[in-house]
Amino acid sequence: MINLLNAKIEPEIWLCDILLCMNELVYGLSALGISLNSVQLGQFETYYQELVDYNSRINLTAITEYKDVQIKHFLDSVSLVLAGIKGDEKLLDVGSGAGFPGLPLKILFPAIQLGLLEATQKKARFLSEITVKLGLSGVEIISQRAEDTAQNPLYRQKYSLVTSRAVADMATLAELTLPFCAIGGRVIAPKKGDIEEEMDRAATAVKKMGGRVFKVIKVELPGLEDGRKLVLLEKISNTPALYPRRAGIPAKTPLI
Ligand code: SAM
Repeated sequence: MINLLNAKIEPEIWLCDILLCMNELVYGLSALGISLNSVQLGQFETYYQELVDYNSRINLTAITEYKDVQIKHFLDSVSLVLAGIKGDEKLLDVGSGAGFPGLPLKILFPAIQLGLLEATQKKARFLSEITVKLGLSGVEIISQRAEDTAQNPLYRQKYSLVTSRAVADMATLAELTLPFCAIGGRVIAPKKGDIEEEMDRAATAVKKMGGRVFKVIKVELPGLEDGRKLVLLEKISNTPALYPRRAGIPAKTPLI
């Protein structure tokens, strides 16, 4: 059982009625042995309200129903704990969009040092605003392409954990994520459906980036019974300076 009950309650954070809000998320998390405290529940509720409000002006997500956001965004993001996440990770979420899976993991584990990397400026602006609204500290928003950021020594091979959901197929994703991992660090990439062929195609890219496929974990949680998986890569040697290649090339010409 992961104990999340000891976090300090900040009075300025809006608290939702524990019995009324985020029921689907709470139910799904119970299958993971996780319970949220009232601050975390309030943060998820605020996240939902702000996401939907912002989404009416700027397209962030097609998923907006209260129940669907709880399951397909929040619970799906938190399901990455099945791959083993420590509370003190230095985590980079590549192509974070509206913050998934990075921000729900930060709500769950407030001590994580989080980087949210998002190329689209409008989305990055949302990430900055929501981070402030949620009262989170230790979050850096980086509004750049992963290919450029990964060549910056401040970010290259500096993270214990890199996540990336719905950004690219595994061959491209390996090139966009593994260069950020310190040796011994991991990449967790949520995937759906039959990924055997995709994983085969990614073998060369994973190896060239200094990684190896560690394992693939099945995700079966209430509302997420549609063949979700977590691909776990491990960084075992330095990424050659050549990689990642120029912006756009990893997607256009994957290393297969
Ligand atoms: N990860 C979020 C999620 O699961 O909801 C967003 C997924 S969205 C389909 C893909 C996001 O990745 C977009 O916001 C896009 O701007 C960003 N992205 C794609 N390629 C990128 C790159 N090379 N560097 C940084 N961000 C990138």
